[in-house]
Amino acid sequence: MSLIAVSIFVAEPDQVDPALEAARAAVDAGADLIEWRVDELADADTVPAMAVLVDSSPRPCILTVRSEDEGGAFDGDPEDVADILDALREGGVVPRYVDLEHGFWSDSDELRAAWARWDGLDTGLILSMHDVEGRPDDLLQRVEAMVAVEEASVRKFVWRARSVRDNLEAFHVLHQVAGPAIALCMGDMGIPSRVLAGTEGAFLTFASTDLGVTAPGQCDLDTLLHRFRYRSLSEATRVLGIIGMPLGHSLSPVVHNAGFESVGYDGVFLPLPVAAGWESFKATALTLMEELPIRLRGLCVTLPHKEHALRFVLEQGGEVTDIARRSGAANTIVIDKDGKLVADNTDAPAIVETLGIETAGSRVAVLGAGGAARAAVAGLLSAGARVDVFNRSPERAQALVEAMDDPMCTIGDPDEVSGYDAVINTTSVGMEGGPDPEGNPIEALGLRTWMLEEAQVVYECVYAPRRTPLVELAESLGTPVVTGEAMFLAQARRQFTAWTGREAPVDAWRQLID
Ligand code: NAP
Repeated sequence: MSLIAVSIFVAEPDQVDPALEAARAAVDAGADLIEWRVDELADADTVPAMAVLVDSSPRPCILTVRSEDEGGAFDGDPEDVADILDALREGGVVPRYVDLEHGFWSDSDELRAAWARWDGLDTGLILSMHDVEGRPDDLLQRVEAMVAVEEASVRKFVWRARSVRDNLEAFHVLHQVAGPAIALCMGDMGIPSRVLAGTEGAFLTFASTDLGVTAPGQCDLDTLLHRFRYRSLSEATRVLGIIGMPLGHSLSPVVHNAGFESVGYDGVFLPLPVAAGWESFKATALTLMEELPIRLRGLCVTLPHKEHALRFVLEQGGEVTDIARRSGAANTIVIDKDGKLVADNTDAPAIVETLGIETAGSRVAVLGAGGAARAAVAGLLSAGARVDVFNRSPERAQALVEAMDDPMCTIGDPDEVSGYDAVINTTSVGMEGGPDPEGNPIEALGLRTWMLEEAQVVYECVYAPRRTPLVELAESLGTPVVTGEAMFLAQARRQFTAWTGREAPVDAWRQLID
């Protein structure tokens, strides 16, 4: 069984008590091991403080002094670590594991000699390497060199993921090393390596406590245990995830993982941040499919890759639903166990379903001409509405209208904005972290507020924050509003069913994200 170690910084002796308290809480919550990160505390003079940590540790512990070069705060040299080891041994402080960096180990006869003096004590050596910049060029040589160190009980390889593909290489490293090993990636792109570590045979994964992360990308214990269900994942667990950039605001991992648990679907849903560009998308999707055959069963695709998702599935000879083709974009890829792909766009029907008015024969103003706009327009046209498109960049609006190739879809005239039954905002104006978080799209596009007053409904696609400036404006005018959460839940529900074949627990989801 793969273990979970919570990692806790202790920089000063007066942090020992709160650190122990956090460790006890983590053990109550399900942690198996405690890593004491004593980079700043460790010194031959602070043995008593380290003794308290080790002796009072509520579970077996790892004592770690991480150097500045490898992402820690220890500014000494390997000989200082040797002195600390001697002082600990002489003080009878015997943690279950000591983490020593391979760089220090190979540079210092003294450090190796100090470790040799631990022979016979019930302590294992975790020999580690960390590259905070990215994958080291000589990773495979490092693996080989560390495997050759016979004194090591566990070998640990950590580097900053530059792409989601690095996670898959971490799994290769785990498979390559005989005996207990840890291979993890740092940063937002490294979360899959941390969540799937157990399914790939890792000795352990790390989690953070309320006292904060000790490495970028570390999940907190609650997220690891309850959102990602670390303990119940196995080699057979299906892997799904959201591809996009940025993903910080995405609620998809929250709802889909909760949904999988609630319907008993053996799957895990991961954030898969992928940088802009067709090549990045294609390389990631292909590598995931190759490296996780049978297990990779679905992708949710968001900004800026929805068009890429459609193109990818077409290129791979997969099936594309009519609405995805008409939208020119896919937000959902379903992958069967033979690797056959289906691309769909669940945004389009979600908007129609939640608009709250009879769409057939209605007149709708769509603000924006990006991916969400295309889905909205395609869905509305298919449902019999007449649609006018308003966008900041006229050429993009023109391209959208031409792509729809439908007389019911035209460019809107900002001087003639009367008579719309619905106004739908698909721009990212008002979005947290977006181009204009305080703005509202009516103003941004030079439109008149009265188009909101006349409408039966103002529909907001942006869901972070829940109450955007547009929502507040429409409410102040007394017009009924549908917020982005409704669209989010409706499109996610369809995705969930496409992947799992089950009904999504939408009411539970609503409570979860409220
Ligand atoms: P996109 O393809 O990048 O399109 C962005 C749109 O916003 C474009 O029309 C762009 O105009 C416009 N825009 C951006 N900044 C602007 C500004 N300062 N002033 C005026 N217009 C501006 O993005 P998308 O995929 O369509 O997503 C748009 C929004 O919908 C995002 O906030 C996204 O989170 C949300 N969304 C929500 C859901 C949901 O489930 N609720 C689903 C999908 C999308 P230009 O063409 O001139 O650049």
